[in-house]
Amino acid sequence: MLRGPRPPAVLVLLAALLAPVPASATTPAADPIRLSVDATGAPGRLLHVKLDLPARPGPLTLVYPKWIPGNHMASGPIGDLTGLHLSANGRPVEWERDAVDPFAFHCRVPTGAGRLEVEFDRLQSASGHLASGRSLTSRLAVLDWNELLLYPAGRPAEGIVFAARLRLPAGWSYGTALATARVDGDTIEFAPVPLTTLVDSPVQAGLYRRRIELGPAAGPPVAVDIACDDATGLLAPPELVAQWKQLVAEATALFGATHYRRYEFLLSLSDDLDHFGLEHHESSDDRADARALADDERRAADAGLLPHEYVHSWNGTYRRPAGMVRPDYQEPQRTELLWVYEGLTEYLGWLLTARSGLATPEWQRQELAGEAAWLDRTPGRTWRPLKDTAIATPILFGGPTSWTSRRRGADYYEEGVLIWLEADVLIRQRSGGRRSLDDFCRAFLGGRSGPPAVVPYTSEDVVKALDLVAPYDWRGFFDTRLSSTAPHAPLGGIVAGGWRLAWSDTASAYERAAARASGDRTDLRLSLGFALDGEGVITDVVPGSAAGDAGLAPGMKPIAVDGRRFSVERLRDELRAGKNGADPLELLAEDGEFVRAFRLDWHGGELHPVLVRDPARPDLLTQILEPRTPRIAPEPAAE
Ligand SMILES: [Zn+2]
Repeated sequence: MLRGPRPPAVLVLLAALLAPVPASATTPAADPIRLSVDATGAPGRLLHVKLDLPARPGPLTLVYPKWIPGNHMASGPIGDLTGLHLSANGRPVEWERDAVDPFAFHCRVPTGAGRLEVEFDRLQSASGHLASGRSLTSRLAVLDWNELLLYPAGRPAEGIVFAARLRLPAGWSYGTALATARVDGDTIEFAPVPLTTLVDSPVQAGLYRRRIELGPAAGPPVAVDIACDDATGLLAPPELVAQWKQLVAEATALFGATHYRRYEFLLSLSDDLDHFGLEHHESSDDRADARALADDERRAADAGLLPHEYVHSWNGTYRRPAGMVRPDYQEPQRTELLWVYEGLTEYLGWLLTARSGLATPEWQRQELAGEAAWLDRTPGRTWRPLKDTAIATPILFGGPTSWTSRRRGADYYEEGVLIWLEADVLIRQRSGGRRSLDDFCRAFLGGRSGPPAVVPYTSEDVVKALDLVAPYDWRGFFDTRLSSTAPHAPLGGIVAGGWRLAWSDTASAYERAAARASGDRTDLRLSLGFALDGEGVITDVVPGSAAGDAGLAPGMKPIAVDGRRFSVERLRDELRAGKNGADPLELLAEDGEFVRAFRLDWHGGELHPVLVRDPARPDLLTQILEPRTPRIAPEPAAE
């Protein structure tokens, strides 16, 4: 591994002053909570849990983890906990749910009892979001321990030790960052760990799995554990494996230190799983569809998944906003700094995707163009500043998906890319090219290598660390962008980076792949002003657009365009034919039990965003995406 340029002395000092607190004690308590999870029912979408807790006679409150790290909301799937039974000394113990908090259960441990036994089932619903989403298929499972336990209320999670045991369906294997103590047939005993480590260490299990070591030559080992519904989906092309190795090299060059003993990408591929990524200190839960490795277009559409989650090992788990460091999983998290936690991660994931070769710079520019164009035109930004999208995350995640253009979504991800790109460009300009955001990352997120630790920060810490890299009014820079209700997005980084936003009649390869990956959605919000889901139902209508003025609304379903049966292809044909014409486009749409006619006064054809080079300015954008480490060649023999 080739390490990047040495940071200035002040940054080394700053890094040394950040005294990390251990994320987990390694000494097990003498009498841990014994947790047994029977996952043999996973193919039947049901997991059975047994807990054996040391307890003293008297009142006891047990809680189910509520605020799940990385979910940024109270997403613990309490509605899927069923069949709860408590007992002591072989006799049932009554329980009662708290009248206000549905995640808490009260009971009284009987006189003479030294232990309490708890049993329940964790069901998987057919549909849900994040923690309540689909994690079990007939051939693989992603197990999150927080969904499979109760713990005593009022005690710091770091001080509660669990000894976990897991029984898998016959023939299944597993991958996890947890250390295994013993394997007996299909049953695994894990080494006792604090609750925080357990919740931070999901297990991937399945019938078809494969492990690929990524090195690196120096530093803790990194591997990809692939699970799929069939053996065919496990085949990773040699060039992809080389790009994953490059990702490890580029990330460690960027941050200059690691905060894991080993790192596992738990890559689970199935059309029956919900698709997302979830970060942890020493692993990530990365989910994509069954053909994600085999199909070139799908692979390109998912290229940013692993880089984003990997960056979280530094930004989000090691360095974490102070308001998101909580003693247990019941206390609410403060999410206002997600523009750093997620926004900076999205930016770094975007550039590492290019630096590692997982996507070309052209592909990354197409992605940036699409995000910038939408953010620049979304009307929701005129009432809701960016910082409110972060504060309101607990209601935005998993909330309604219609009317996005009026609501705004969790824009601190995509707009975070624009803002951190602008910061990167500013540092490069103000330092005459000697410094970049890489220097900030090394100082603020890198620190000293070691096992998992949590170092909290405030927005003041972010501003101070940036000021050490390049003196500037960073407080004013962020405040302006976070509080703005101006109609347009902060595109300064793109412009000063040597590019500008322009329009094309045809969709880019990125746009086509992204539409396919999102279930064949059709997004015409930048032209006609509406979007359709894969079933052809309107999901969003932009206020002030031709569709908005005509009275279309989410939930309606177009059935005819200009007097002919509706199809997306026909709509696009009519859009092209009507460009610069005078006649409105006529749409017939189902509106519940009614059919209504709408006239859309739009004559601009299709609009697809592109970035074009501005030769008057240096091309900083391309410099930012350039690799910093020697290219790693694919090894066909290793496949
Ligand atoms: Zn993230």
